[in-house]
Amino acid sequence: NPDIEAAKHAVLKDAFGFAGFRDGQEPVVDAVLNGHNVLAVMPTGAGKSLCYQLPALVKGGVAIVVSPLIALMDDQVAALRLAGQAAEAIHSGKSREDNVEIWRRVARGDVRLLYMSPERLMTPRMLAALEKLSPSLVAVDEAHCISQWGHSFRAEYLSLGALRESFPGTPIIALTATADRSTRDDIVGKLFGGQAEVFVSGFDRPNIQLTVAEKRRAGADIEAFVKARPGQSGIVYRISRKKVEDTAAALSAVGVRALAYHAGMSAEDRSANQEAFLAETGIVIVATVAFGMGIDKSDVRYVVHGDIPGSLEAYYQEIGRAGRDGAPAEAFMLYGLEDVRTRRRFIDEQDCEPDRRRVDANRLDSMIGYCEATSCRRVALLAYFGESGKPCGNCDVCLDPPDLVDGADAARLVVDA
Ligand code: ADP
Ligand code: MG
Ligand code: ZN
Repeated sequence: NPDIEAAKHAVLKDAFGFAGFRDGQEPVVDAVLNGHNVLAVMPTGAGKSLCYQLPALVKGGVAIVVSPLIALMDDQVAALRLAGQAAEAIHSGKSREDNVEIWRRVARGDVRLLYMSPERLMTPRMLAALEKLSPSLVAVDEAHCISQWGHSFRAEYLSLGALRESFPGTPIIALTATADRSTRDDIVGKLFGGQAEVFVSGFDRPNIQLTVAEKRRAGADIEAFVKARPGQSGIVYRISRKKVEDTAAALSAVGVRALAYHAGMSAEDRSANQEAFLAETGIVIVATVAFGMGIDKSDVRYVVHGDIPGSLEAYYQEIGRAGRDGAPAEAFMLYGLEDVRTRRRFIDEQDCEPDRRRVDANRLDSMIGYCEATSCRRVALLAYFGESGKPCGNCDVCLDPPDLVDGADAARLVVDA
């Protein structure tokens, strides 16, 4: 439809002020405009909001947006208002009078995007009232909250499974940055009854060179890597507090400005080290997974993993702290069988349901598969997140392909014999 196509680009430029779509946005927007149910998986900061906001503005009427936190709702509403769009949120942080007044505007047709929590939306009264307004679409933001496999399960999200019966014919778009298969399948099952178009994009960080090396002596391997990169800001992840302390001390002993960070340190020491790392260039922070949440330092040149993480999701998040400025950066990981045993033991000793243990064991298997990949690591990493890619030329396997027995020839030899 040429009218919709024109409206789409007009809204992108005039309402949002963007020159073009980012990688992955347009196919999602098109699917929603075509009335399909969609799950969009894109990393944080990739621009998921636009994927429902733009169709909402093109379609007119009122779109309902489900969001788990008042702060998130208020942020989005403020950003839309700045862009001159009629957005509102109804939530418990406002007076009853304010919420009633907002509802009046919604009922008059003056609001394009209405934000709400799942528990507020899924009451029979609210659903009945909204049904009369024929919403243009329903967007479920932070959709991983519906999955028990995610890290932020919210029981209220489960009730959203009734949405597709509450608004038959209205497209539902779910958005999340959490991309592993079990979570994704869980979202599609619970929210869409198994039927949705799934789009995954934006996970590639081509400037980060990926390397996995055999772990011989972790201390010496890490030291060699760090010393070869003097003056660079870097992060070294270790699996335990003890290893963090030891590695930081060893690096300091050879003249590297290394600072430790783990949950066993006092809050003051931790934040002093973090502040120093953020403020200066050339500090190496040696840390457990406790480090990194919300860290936005653009010139981190490398992330070293002295021990394997428990999942590719964790790994991806951690290496994603490197090279935010787009300049070349490195992700260097040491891989040894001892780590695999340690991780398996963590999972076995976990006090949890058997299902959870199975999911975690699968995640670890994917991590091991990545470490043992004999073709492009980036292709393997992206494939795990459901995104496809071509051999990257910027990972250890692409740059230095391993000598492999040619499987096809070997098979033929066996057959011929
Ligand atoms: P996410 O929800 O995926 O974490 P957001 O939707 O909050 O990301 O968007 C992150 C930032 O990217 C916002 O500042 C937004 O304005 C910007 N952005 C989104 N789409 C585009 C685009 N097509 N062009 C330029 N900037 C964009
Ligand atoms: Mg978002
Ligand atoms: Zn590659």
